[in-house]
Amino acid sequence: MFINISEFISTPLKTETFKVPVDMQVYELNGDCFPFREKSELILTVSNIGNRKVHLEGHWECILAVPCDRCLKEVAVPFHIDVDEDVDLSAERQEDMSDDSYVEDSSINTDALINHEILIRFPMKTLCKDNCKGMCFKCGKDLNDGECGCDRASLDPRMAAIQDIFKNFKEV
Ligand SMILES: [Zn+2]
Ligand SMILES: [Zn+2]
Repeated sequence: MFINISEFISTPLKTETFKVPVDMQVYELNGDCFPFREKSELILTVSNIGNRKVHLEGHWECILAVPCDRCLKEVAVPFHIDVDEDVDLSAERQEDMSDDSYVEDSSINTDALINHEILIRFPMKTLCKDNCKGMCFKCGKDLNDGECGCDRASLDPRMAAIQDIFKNFKEV
């Protein structure tokens, strides 16, 4: 949805709260698609704060399905997003705006705003549990379900040497 903010800029003290349904089915990041498992309406209050600026305040919640970094099992990652942004239409010209800008032609693109808010909160690391054992790199079995019997120690000799160093290090 697009919320036109030019009428907010031209009307002193204008403030209005919008309830915006979010239609996106997936969140895209660097070519990966993460499906939404749940998402709320976006509640967004737009206020004229003077000097051709509007303030955006709002709240949105969702649960994203993100694969575990080790075993690839789906992890439900909740996001509780409090929007708190100023949009300055006096300084920002269209050509200066970055790719992830959610302001287009004096309108707020709410999908782009949500993408922006998820991006700045997206976890660096996602694990199904802290001690996830991951997958066997030989047969692909989920090692949380038990051993597969593969000999994962037969690395090339240089790696084996490094492993020995780690082993000795641990024993100290
Ligand atoms: Zn895992
Ligand atoms: Zn295996």
